[in-house]
This record gives sequence, C-alpha cells and structure tokens, in this order.
Amino acid sequence: MDRVRLRRLLARESVEAQRQNPRSKAAYARADHLFGRVPMTWMNKTAGAFPRYLAAARGARVMDIDGHEYIDFCLGDTGAMAGHSPDAVAAAVQQRFTDLGGATAMLPTEDAEWVGAELTRRFGLTRWSFSLTATDANRWAIRLARAVTGRPKILVNSYSYHGSVDESLIVVGPDGRGTARPGNVGAPCDVTLTSRVAEFNDLDQLERELAHGDVAAVLMEPALTNIGIVLPEPGYLEGVRELTRRSGALLINDETHTFSAGPGGCTAAWGLEPDMLTIGKAIGGGIPAGAYGLSAELAELLLGRADLDLVDMGGVGGTLAGNALSVAATRATLEDVLTDQAFAAMDELSRRFEAGVRAGIERWDLPWSVSRLGARSEYRFANPAPRTGTQSAAASDTDLEDYLHLYLANRGLLLTPFHNMALMCPATTDKDVDTHTEVFGEALSELFG
Ligand code: PMP
Repeated sequence: MDRVRLRRLLARESVEAQRQNPRSKAAYARADHLFGRVPMTWMNKTAGAFPRYLAAARGARVMDIDGHEYIDFCLGDTGAMAGHSPDAVAAAVQQRFTDLGGATAMLPTEDAEWVGAELTRRFGLTRWSFSLTATDANRWAIRLARAVTGRPKILVNSYSYHGSVDESLIVVGPDGRGTARPGNVGAPCDVTLTSRVAEFNDLDQLERELAHGDVAAVLMEPALTNIGIVLPEPGYLEGVRELTRRSGALLINDETHTFSAGPGGCTAAWGLEPDMLTIGKAIGGGIPAGAYGLSAELAELLLGRADLDLVDMGGVGGTLAGNALSVAATRATLEDVLTDQAFAAMDELSRRFEAGVRAGIERWDLPWSVSRLGARSEYRFANPAPRTGTQSAAASDTDLEDYLHLYLANRGLLLTPFHNMALMCPATTDKDVDTHTEVFGEALSELFG
C-alpha cells in the first residue's frame, strides 16, 4: 500500500468532514464543561477532529445537526441492533412512562417474568436477573461465580472486552504471561491477582491456566467481537466446555455482541451449554437494560446460602436494575422487534454485506479478510482472518481505518468507530447494503487504483 497516498487521502477526507459539519465542529468547540468535550470520553474515538452530533435517528437512519442523513451500520455498537426507536419500543416506553406512569418504584412489574421466560426460551438458562448494562451483568455474574465456587480468579480471553470490569482488563503479554491491558485506568490491584488469561482458540493455554485450580469462572464471548470478529475454530468451544467442567470452573457466555448470531445468540445457534449467560445493549431496544441468566440449580444453591447478602448491600444489584421502564422496553424489543423472523432477514442482509466487501477485497487482491457472525460483519487488514485476539490486535492500522470511516461518513454511511464493524437491524434494506458496497469500492479504487 502507498502510505503517502493514504495519508493524502485521509487529510482530504478530514478537511471534507470539517467542511460538511460546521455545526458539529462548533458544538464540540463550545463543550467546555464536558470531560474531554464529550458526554462520555470514548466519544472522542472518532475518525476526524470532532464527532458528528446526533439530531435524530429512526430505524437504520441517523441525522446529524448539520442536516446530513446516514445509513447507520454502527447502530450504537449493538445498543440499537433493534433499529433506532422502533415503534413497538416507543409505544411501550410511552405507555409505561407517560400513560401508566412509573419508571422506577422499587416494585416488580409482570413484564419481568415474561422477559425471563422469553430469555429462557432463547438461551436455555432458566433463572434471570436484570441490570442496566452488560458491564454490570458481568460484574454480578462474576461475584456469584466466586461465591459459589469459593475460588478467587476469573479467566478471560486476550483482547476480549466485557465492559469496564476490573477482572477482565488483562491480556497475554509478549512473554506469554498475563499482564494488565495497556492503558488500564486506576486498576484496584495487579490484575494477575484476580485474573487469568488465555488466547482465544488456544485450548492448551486454557488447560494450563485452569490447572491452577483457582479459576471461579471463564468469562468469554463465543466469538470475539471487540478486536474484529475472531470466530471459534472447530472443536474449540466444545473443548472449553469440557475443560471448564473438568476443572470445576463455571462457564459464562457474554452474548452482548454475539446476540447478532440469532435470536438466542451463539448459545442457541451452536448448542452451547454455559452455566451462566450475560447480555446487555440490544435487548432494551435503546433503553438501558442488561440481564444475566443462570441454571435453576445454581440459583437454588446461591439463594440457600445464608452467608450471602443478595438482598441488600452484598455487592450484587443496583437501585434502577430491573426498573419498570427498562423491563417494558426489553419485553417490546423481544416480543415485537428482534424476533426470530427479524433475525433471519438480518442474517441475509449481512451475507449480502459480506459478499460486497469480499468483492472489493478480491478486486484489488488485498491481504484483508471479512468475517461474519449472523447480522454482524467485519473486515480486518489480515488474511487469513486472525485466530486469536493478539493476532487481530496486531492487524490494526489506524490511518487506514480512519480513512475508510471518514470516506464512508462523508458519503452518508456510518460504521462502528471502534472497528470496521457493520451491523444490520430490522429496518436495514438491500439498497442500504448495496450503497455500502458501492462506496466501499470507490474508497478502495481511490487508494489502490
Ligand atoms: N460485553 C461485551 C461483549 C461488550 O462488547 C461490551 C461493550 N462493548 C460490554 C460487555 C459492556 O457493555 P456496556 O458498556 O454497555 O456495559
């Protein structure tokens, strides 16, 4: 690749973004009272000098305050996989908050049991509890796993992401041993005291780490989705299940992103048998919601432990977790929007997207790959596709990523800022996908032609 040409094109697109978005640029310049000028510091992870500001969004479309409309393949990095403000969720929110009234009253609603039963139908786990974020679902699942096993450590895959969970910020270092993830902010202690780590797709390393006998749970995504998509090799997930069972560690599947694989995530699609399951983001249809599931046996065991405070300040739970509004939104999302039929259509769209990207890669004979997990596709600057998180991390290329993101955004297409991920929602159309294929092809032609 001609890096000089890449930098020239990137500079051109950056100037174009500023020309197109004077209001966003000015709003950002004015935001003196925000830490990092943004409502959440990660919103600075944007290609270009400032983020575009949201004006409105509906279905697969986002409008910015400069008057541009985008085909949104980012979908809030999965938080809006149901599409933006889908009608059924909007109606449920309106009913719960305005018509009936009562978002957070410290009292259960009947919607919760409906949602629990539906999550059971989809994922198999038979007892459910709610959170507002996937991070908290993971944090509480981890605590329960430690309580029930009496073991101190959590094992995760290198370069996985499970939210801002202290125990999960560990990677395999150059010497093959666990070390703090680079940039870890204010770690409470050396992460190797609380955690172990293994590369995804590496059963030997997993077996060695589990052999210490101190792992309460393996917390993992059935496919990595936060360092590109890294798919499991044949036999890997079966091996994980066998090794965890043999060593007495619980297996927690984090389906927050892998939910894209189908109505019951990878767990249902691939017949997995985790002891616990966590999920967040998309299930609330845009309203904050998360959940964790466990088996009836595990639930009985935990509820029978007089030494565990599961009711008050024992470290599991949050005041607004399971609130009436979030649960109503989750019910509407699962009942009417992210249905089995919707997933089938999203899967088709994603195949189409993948084929379009592959055609572009082949046209220029690029050493890139594209991976798909149901409704989610992602391209990576490596071929063959990386098989571990560390390999995938090594394949990142910030200038190239920024060029593609800016090129697409300047022409009305949004990808997930953290990587080259495109997600389909029930409102995405074939034409939206074809528009991406066309513009992606043009971006490549300018760079490689
Ligand atoms: N688990 C996975 C797999 C995720 O990708 C993320 C966020 N990207 C989380 C958990 C945390 O979600 P949240 O930030 O909404 O708590």
